[in-house]
Amino acid sequence: MALIFCNECGSEISDKAVNCIKCGNPMRTATSVIDEVLDFKSIDKKYAEEFQKFHDSKGEYKGKKNGYAFFFQLFWFFAKGCWATGLAYVIIIVLFTIIFELLNVGGYGVNEGIYRFIGLGLSVHGMIRANYILYNKKVLNKNIWL
Ligand SMILES: [Zn+2]
Repeated sequence: MALIFCNECGSEISDKAVNCIKCGNPMRTATSVIDEVLDFKSIDKKYAEEFQKFHDSKGEYKGKKNGYAFFFQLFWFFAKGCWATGLAYVIIIVLFTIIFELLNVGGYGVNEGIYRFIGLGLSVHGMIRANYILYNKKVLNKNIWL
């Protein structure tokens, strides 16, 4: 444990303290709290700024679009540890496969179009939601399905 000086009152306090013990001056900003979580979870630093915005906006900020999640879809979510979303995609794909393949609703040409629609739908969903879902997983430790 290292000692640092409070920049308000000059008291010597622990660098782990959230507030100065003498004057109550906040010693750690939201940014440094997020950084600690990110260090602890060893997440890619390129998401740090994005996570900070989610943290600061309290639900207002919707996040940047994520091209990796668009292209790699459910594999991206599994690779990032967002297993609930990856699993939700698998369930959706399996359900549609059962409905349109085993029950043979629609017929060949129709099915092909529907598969493309579902595939594109999941990619677009992933692209829009990926960063927010990743933030919930890595910072708040919450699993979001979709
Ligand atoms: Zn102080």
